[in-house]
Amino acid sequence: MPIKGNAPREWLEQKYIAEDMTTREIGKLLGVSKTQVVKILKENNIPLRRSGARGFKEHCHPRWNGGIRDNQSNGIYVRVGRYASGATRYRKLARVIMERHLGRLLKRCEVVHHINGDNHDNRIENLQLLSSQAEHAKIHVKDLNFRRWGYVSN
Ligand SMILES: [Zn+2]
Repeated sequence: MPIKGNAPREWLEQKYIAEDMTTREIGKLLGVSKTQVVKILKENNIPLRRSGARGFKEHCHPRWNGGIRDNQSNGIYVRVGRYASGATRYRKLARVIMERHLGRLLKRCEVVHHINGDNHDNRIENLQLLSSQAEHAKIHVKDLNFRRWGYVSN
């Protein structure tokens, strides 16, 4: 645990740059004010981000509310940066959460299924990793049959 107002540079870089935490969030961890954090960052020669939405825009931040898009039927998407073309890039939050859980990136063919059928429920216990869309479709067919006809086919 870093000492108040004397956080090592690497720790600050980890939180502020790698984890993209805000000065307010870092302040909470250190038990100091946001202003104090700005001072500490400056003392450690860590370049400050531009504050507000403009700074965040360049700084793909999944926890930034402005970067969250609710696609009603498909669930929640988070902004993760830009394509080379400059177009904003969004990814499904469920995939991002699963990747963090597994500690690796998902393969394109892998699918994250919402177990309880609620695409907005992204708790890790509600997410299931499937190796393909085919496997995913099977689950949904079973689920549909069960709800319609009360049986589960193999
Ligand atoms: Zn599914």
